[in-house]
Amino acid sequence: MRFVRLVALTLVLLGAWSRTDTAPSRSTPMNQIAESYVKLALAAGRHDGDFVDAYYGPPEWKAEADSTTVPLAEIEQRATALIAQLGEPLDAQLGESAGADTAEATQLRLRHAYLRKQLAAMVARVKMLQGTKVSFDDEALALYDASPPTNTEHHFQEIVARLDKSLPGSGPVPARYVSYRNRFVIPAAKVDTVFKTAIAACKERTAKHVTLPPGESFVVEYVKDKPWSGYNWYKGDFHSVIQVNTSLPIYIDRAVDLACHEGYPGHHVYNALIEKNLVRDRGWMEFSIYPLFSPQSLIAEGSANYGIDIAFPGEQRSAYERDTLFPLAGLPADEADEYYRIQGLVRELSYAGNEAARRYLNGEIDAAAAAAWLQQYALMSPAVAEQRVKFFDKYRSYVINYNYGQDLVREYVERAAGPNATPDQRWSVFAALLASPRLPSGLAQ
Ligand SMILES: [Zn+2]
Repeated sequence: MRFVRLVALTLVLLGAWSRTDTAPSRSTPMNQIAESYVKLALAAGRHDGDFVDAYYGPPEWKAEADSTTVPLAEIEQRATALIAQLGEPLDAQLGESAGADTAEATQLRLRHAYLRKQLAAMVARVKMLQGTKVSFDDEALALYDASPPTNTEHHFQEIVARLDKSLPGSGPVPARYVSYRNRFVIPAAKVDTVFKTAIAACKERTAKHVTLPPGESFVVEYVKDKPWSGYNWYKGDFHSVIQVNTSLPIYIDRAVDLACHEGYPGHHVYNALIEKNLVRDRGWMEFSIYPLFSPQSLIAEGSANYGIDIAFPGEQRSAYERDTLFPLAGLPADEADEYYRIQGLVRELSYAGNEAARRYLNGEIDAAAAAAWLQQYALMSPAVAEQRVKFFDKYRSYVINYNYGQDLVREYVERAAGPNATPDQRWSVFAALLASPRLPSGLAQ
């Protein structure tokens, strides 16, 4: 009985009753802390133009934030006070009822833990903006709630040696790979057609498994001179602007990558499901803002990358690209299988980028050495390596969210769905993850 009463009390305290409400949400302690968190994030955004990646909460909160500048030290102090107000992890507050394993109790625990970690990340970022220097790994833990693996140079040398045997032609692997890959660039005049075809395929596959909010939509824009290759700007009301950077050549395999990652079932779907399930249905306003330098980014980037494998499991991806996208781009479909075999090997070098960022941001190597490392072990062309170092300058340890995030999300989905899961069962776990406030450290549980 005590168990039931405690859970019921907690549900009331945490505002679970607002579930069927539309905004504005009822004033409960948790909802009040959530509102303060959103306003503090907007205030931090006044100091750091990249801090707020998306906001679609009440316009008056934004107008209020824009009308004044809260000093960084005060933002830090207020965020720290909100963490204290949240108190102990919810499990401790629940006492012996912590074992309650109803879906609703799980969501409430996740909400509480999520707010604590998001606020802690805000404190860490605001300290950095005030001049605090942190190592790559301390920053990754403080901002993204994760401890990425470290790899030796020898590890990457071994993978490059294996590539040496598989790659056509002769000479050093980095230059040989760059010239080989250049045969698979989408001609500029066909980029839009190929990209929109890939988006339609990703959407079709996603819509079979995920209930997309009604009226969801996006527009595609082509831009130049950005430190990233693609970006999803979520605008609220289930609408996104997807930007594709055309400054550098776009390889054929990037079409499905970008279409799934930025669109379906990646960022566009993730943001739309969060808006539908958490903001509109529950009135949890903390989700109406997406602070870029926070644990939410690991879930967002990791799920957007793993979403490619979910939408195109196994051989389906290379088959689709060979049979549909290669002909559309006017590329040699008979070379597609070898191309994807080689791409599979190159993917094993993904963590070489993290290593370059770690050494560069820790001050062990300079920008030129970081670019050289990226060419040597991540097999980037000189231009792509230079773009990537600019990404390190701007986004720092954010790089871990892509590959380590993908690995954490994959392990979570495969473990939760079970070893013999069907693709449908994996989709189901994946879709539930997209619609819940799960933290990176919570993926391991
Ligand atoms: Zn992304």
